[in-house]
Amino acid sequence: MQNIEFNGEFEEETDVCIICGGEANLTGWNEEKDLSRFECPDCGAIYIYDSKYNETMIKGEKRDWAEYFSENLTLPFNGIVSEPQGDGLFEETGPVRYGDKVTVNKIVGEDDLYGVIVDIKIGKKGYQFPLCDIAADDVKSPNYKIIDNYHIWFANCR
Ligand SMILES: [Zn+2]
Repeated sequence: MQNIEFNGEFEEETDVCIICGGEANLTGWNEEKDLSRFECPDCGAIYIYDSKYNETMIKGEKRDWAEYFSENLTLPFNGIVSEPQGDGLFEETGPVRYGDKVTVNKIVGEDDLYGVIVDIKIGKKGYQFPLCDIAADDVKSPNYKIIDNYHIWFANCR
């Protein structure tokens, strides 16, 4: 893949970065083989899609999100439950509900289904809860941006 030339003409296009959930830009196209190259300014990833959207990483590697958050999130932080906790048919019945204000204290680990799990507190009660359903309160904080990217990645790239 490294030796393929990407000299076809292309229009500006963006994609959800398969590594970080940021916005990757189309930077090259090989017309003959129908290959598109994307580069992500956020994490530096470079990857190529073929016509069937099979991806090949050129630069960057899959992120261990639990480890990434342990290193990059400022803890604790105040957040809000950003997704309804019902299943679409039934009302929310659990103790943690949409719109609840929470304090995120710790990264617990990663679950196959729910992704990164964190320790949260609502008032004095503690729970373990998926970070994919929590947004940071302060929209200007670095935490907000990397969690927002994680939500986008979680919805698009798993
Ligand atoms: Zn990226």
